Amino acid sequence: MQSQKNHPQPFSFEFYPPKTEEGAANLQLVHTKLAEQNPEFFSVTFGAGGSTRDKTFDTVVDIQQKGIAAAPHLSCVASTKENIRSILKSYQEHGISKIVALRGDLPSGMMSAGEFRYANELVAFIRQETGDDFEIHVAAYPEAHPQASSAAEDFKNFKRKVEAGADAAITQYFYNAEAYFYFLDLCEKNGITIPIVPGIMPITQYAQLFRFSEMCGADIPRWLRKRLEGFGDDRTSIQAFGLDVVSDLCQRLLDGGAPGLHFYTMNQSAPTLAILGNLRQ
Ligand code: FAD
Repeated sequence: MQSQKNHPQPFSFEFYPPKTEEGAANLQLVHTKLAEQNPEFFSVTFGAGGSTRDKTFDTVVDIQQKGIAAAPHLSCVASTKENIRSILKSYQEHGISKIVALRGDLPSGMMSAGEFRYANELVAFIRQETGDDFEIHVAAYPEAHPQASSAAEDFKNFKRKVEAGADAAITQYFYNAEAYFYFLDLCEKNGITIPIVPGIMPITQYAQLFRFSEMCGADIPRWLRKRLEGFGDDRTSIQAFGLDVVSDLCQRLLDGGAPGLHFYTMNQSAPTLAILGNLRQ
């Protein structure tokens, strides 16, 4: 797909804040390449408990200054209202107007002494403190959040975030398109009209993807897992097959009414660019 200058494409690209100078230099290159696609925004993750607070902030401000909107992720678990208030204020002072509001997951062993329990409380707090200054994006789970007691309860909790004032949602990644389409149907039946943008995880290797998916509750369908396992250490074949599978998924999602795509880039440009290149114009 060609980028159209001056017309943002309905794509967004997620980064994590780099930990080293080498990582920061890499991210500059990755950002430059992905910026050529003229995305709607870049987002930058936030370590729950505040571990990446300064690095997320610096990365977001740097991206915003380069001309395309940057949206910080902000997780509220283990945080105080005063702390969140001060983060929001710093972002306002730097012209940031989009935010991804999350509960977050605490690193194991860390106890929460925070004033927020769930993301809907954070969304309500942002609205209460800053009115309509921020466009608020929240997380959605077409395959249900791993801690949810049931899919129905999880959907109710998603609805709470929308009712608290979310403007848009980005989903956890998935490889079952039906789960997304079913989730869209549920939203429609429940009067939820905000855009629900699929989160897309390119497939470039297997072990890490498997680990991530176990943690975040994303299902790797058996047929896909078996094929990926079958490639063993043959990274080239995994990447070629992964590119086919994820490009098809993206095309299906867009054809089926997805309002855009949000790519979990893992601070790499090539896998995302290859997928975009495979999409029909
Ligand atoms: P919530 O919406 O609060 O839901 C968490 C769980 O609690 C769910 O099981 C839900 O059903 C339940 N629940 C929600 N509200 C209520 C309620 N009022 N009463 C009872 N139960 C409730 N993590 C990070 O640490 N940093 C990041 O930058 C980050 N970025 C992400 C970006 C995206 C697009 C996504 C999809 C996830 C991201 N995550 C990130 C992971 C996320 O923090 C975890 O999935 C976390 O476990 C849940 O966060 P949430 O905002 O969805 O929480």
